[in-house]
Order: sequence, then structure tokens, then C-alpha cells
Amino acid sequence: MKVAIWESKGKIDMVDRKVPAMAPGEVLIRVTSSGLCGTDLHICHGETPHATPQVTIGHEFAGYVESIHPETKTSLTVGHLVAIDPNCPCHACTFCRNKKYHLCPFLSCIGVSVNGGMAKYVAVPAAAAFAVPSTVSPELASLAEPLSCVVHAVDTGSIKSGDRVLIMGAGPIGLMALGLCSTGGASVTVVEPSDMRRQKALEFGAAKAIKPEDLKVGDPCMGHGYDVVFECVGRPETMESAVNCAKAGGTVVWVGVAKPGVTVPVSPFDVYRRELTIKSTYTNPFGMERAVKILAEGKVNWSALISHTFTLDEFDKAWEVFTSGTGLKVCVRPSLE
Ligand SMILES: [Zn+2]
Ligand SMILES: [Zn+2]
Repeated sequence: MKVAIWESKGKIDMVDRKVPAMAPGEVLIRVTSSGLCGTDLHICHGETPHATPQVTIGHEFAGYVESIHPETKTSLTVGHLVAIDPNCPCHACTFCRNKKYHLCPFLSCIGVSVNGGMAKYVAVPAAAAFAVPSTVSPELASLAEPLSCVVHAVDTGSIKSGDRVLIMGAGPIGLMALGLCSTGGASVTVVEPSDMRRQKALEFGAAKAIKPEDLKVGDPCMGHGYDVVFECVGRPETMESAVNCAKAGGTVVWVGVAKPGVTVPVSPFDVYRRELTIKSTYTNPFGMERAVKILAEGKVNWSALISHTFTLDEFDKAWEVFTSGTGLKVCVRPSLE
């Protein structure tokens, strides 16, 4: 079968691999849909420390259970549609023993450190596979992983109904955060340079969608600014701006992934005077089941996040569209010829 691997710094390649053999505890998945994400770009550029060269990429995927190893204990049966949680903790370290699985230093990550879903078949631990109800399409199911990260991010922001929320960046992650915050009763302003993405933000429930140059916040100590700010870009200038836009007493959540080594100027006096809470959010602890439920609930038209779909043979084209940044979620469907 053809798979997309991280070959070396700056290079994703298509290569031939055998259909993987399952180990005890694993199931074999026939992948129906596999999304590309900013993390894949970081991997490609050698900016993801735990990424392993020659590993098949693809950490946002869904598919059908094709077969089950005889020594695997699972309630899944062959034919189940499942969404995959790529993060597999060790269950033995101090973080795992304190239910902080996402901070496990021995985390194995499907599509990053072990073979992932940019392939027709992949063997994964049964514990990584979450059953998806039949009301959710196989393509939509591949959004469960990024949505699970956003579920954790929005939890981290502790928004309350009536809060004024600012979301910086209306890519797939920003739009997902918008969908969760607006259906949760917050009034959300989105700041985003792309016309297409601002339009999408209005469809996803934004009260306002503005260009970066139109973002003006009065004196945060006089009650201006936002109760919660989600930075969903990952650039130092937007991370700095996020801090400046928070109202006194507010919370800033840095959701975007910055390049390693990048720093942001933050005034400790301002943080003190405004009693700000600056938080980060890392991966998706306990988010997968909730993400699947949210997709099934369908309060937001989540499938509108998928702007492009390609077959695996068209991977180069998919990568080109993805890296151009002109679309939203770019999905590859490895089970389609
Ligand atoms: Zn991702
Ligand atoms: Zn651990």
C-alpha cells in the first residue's frame, strides 16, 4: 500500500509499505479519512522533537475496524466506525498515575512517533479507537481528534455564558473554538485577515469578525477588553496581542503552536496590575468521547470545516493546497482509489 511518510527535514514522501501486522491489544483500521494539520507542517520542518523520520504521518483520522488481534480485549467489533486518539500514554509514570496522561513523557503518538493514518491500513491499540455513531459520516469523524484538542482548550479557558470572548485566527482550530464558545453562550469576536475565514466565522456563530487592523481595545483596567482570549495562530505577535486584549481579571489561552525557541514580550507589571491568567493547552486529555458526542449532536455545521478532499494518490496535491493556506481542513481519503 502507498503511505505518506516524513522522510527528512522539509520532505514528505509517498512510499510503498506492507499492510501492518497487529500486535496483541491492537486492531487494524481501514482508514476512511485523514486530515492534514499544522502539526504535520511542524513535523515536516523538523520542529516536532518527538517526531520520528520514516514514520507514516496522519494523526487526525477515522476508519473502520478491519480486524481484531485474537489477544485484544475490546468492545469494538469488525465494521465499527472509529475515530482515533493518536496519543497513547505509558500508564506508569507520575503524570499518568495522576491522570495527566497528556503530559506523559513516554507518550507514543500515532502519526508522529509511530505509523499513522496517511495510509489505507494502520494497526493501533484498541484503547486508541473510539466508536462513532452511524449518524456521523466517516469524513466528519476524522475531525474528532482536532475537536478533542479544542474541547480541552475551551475547558482551559473556563468560559461562562455571557462572557466576551476573543478568538484570534479562524483556521480550523479557531473555528472549532468559536463553535464551542458560541453554543456555550459566550459572545465571540473573531480576528482574522482572510475574507473567506471571516465569512466562515460569521457562519459559525461569531458576533463580530474583524480584520487585525480593526482590533482596538480600550483601557483593560477600565473594563474594556475580553474576559477570555484564545490565541489560535501560534505567532509571537498574535500571542503578545492576545495578552494585551484581555480585560483586567481575564484569562488568555495560548492554543496556537509556536516554533520552538520563539519568545514573546510580556510585561510582568501589566500581568500583575490586570491580574491576568495566562494558560496554555497541550493535546486532548479526556476530550475524544466528548468530541465524538459534539460531532453527533450537530449543533454546528462542523462538516463546513472540510474545504478539500483528495484521494491518497493525490497526496502531493493535498499537501500543496494545505501548505498554501487557502482552504480550511484538507482531508485525504485513503480507502478511495
Ligand atoms: Zn493535528
Ligand atoms: Zn506516562
